[in-house]
Amino acid sequence: SIPLGYFGGIGAASRNGILFKGSNYLDLITKVNTVVMDKTGTLTKGVFEVQKVHASDTPHADWLALAASLESKSSHPIAKAITSFAKKTNKPVFLPQKLQEVSGKGLTGLVEGHKVVVGNAVLMRDNGIHTESETDHESSTIIHVAVDEKYCGRIIIADEIKQDTQQAIGDLRKTGIKSIFLFSGDRDAVTQALVKELKLDKGYGDLLPEQKVARLEALKRAKDRTVAFVGDGINDGPVLALADVGIAMGGMGSDLAIETADVVIQTDQPSKIAVAMRIGKATKAIVW
Ligand code: ADP
Ligand code: MG
Repeated sequence: SIPLGYFGGIGAASRNGILFKGSNYLDLITKVNTVVMDKTGTLTKGVFEVQKVHASDTPHADWLALAASLESKSSHPIAKAITSFAKKTNKPVFLPQKLQEVSGKGLTGLVEGHKVVVGNAVLMRDNGIHTESETDHESSTIIHVAVDEKYCGRIIIADEIKQDTQQAIGDLRKTGIKSIFLFSGDRDAVTQALVKELKLDKGYGDLLPEQKVARLEALKRAKDRTVAFVGDGINDGPVLALADVGIAMGGMGSDLAIETADVVIQTDQPSKIAVAMRIGKATKAIVW
């Protein structure tokens, strides 16, 4: 039978907007010493805005409209930024004839008879498209666009750090967390800028979903590490499932994330991670 203290802990968590999927996680979360965070939607708001558009010398006249047309079929936060920018600038949106979402890279497809590629530098390289230098815009996300095998330009977008994030990191340190890592599919430059700003222990950028899994496996294998992964679930289902404790940010997290996670934070506040840990510790004190 489950000791009464566990029910108390689950209740206290629930009053704080934290859902534990089982009493075992109240205990396990007290053993966590390593927290791996996802960037987009977890530490940042997950709401991108277009900052600047940089066209190549001779782009296709409709390159932005063609890119936005592909993005209109994606639910990624980046897609929302590009489609709303197209709307604001009165670009037509066409129905793609073909569309493929390449997880962690972007989109390819056929629009108005044109072959369109929209995504990161890796996707461009995969498609044999030479991109211009990325040394500008140090800490912004850069989305490249190619039409009919020709590079047309890039869309510079940015996301903001959540108001709660700095405190969330400080609270985790106070709770005694040894290492806080950042895993991101975004450019490494963006990842390292955030690591520096938030004083995290280490960041890994340019990670594909399967590379996030491999990195987490390596961490879990390390001696004396009990690992929590915190993510909003977009492309993060496998790492949420693999972590010793998978924590989903439910604020705008996907249904899949909420299903896969062991702990669900029902708001968009990362500071609730430390709250969940403190409730785990208080529960243990009562149970034992
Ligand atoms: P994160 O780890 O930050 O949540 P994702 O794995 O979802 O990132 O995506 C990684 C990268 O793939 C993005 O930073 C972007 O460059 C590219 N990407 C993903 N989806 C799209 C999309 N719909 N349009 C353009 N680029 C995309
Ligand atoms: Mg993500």
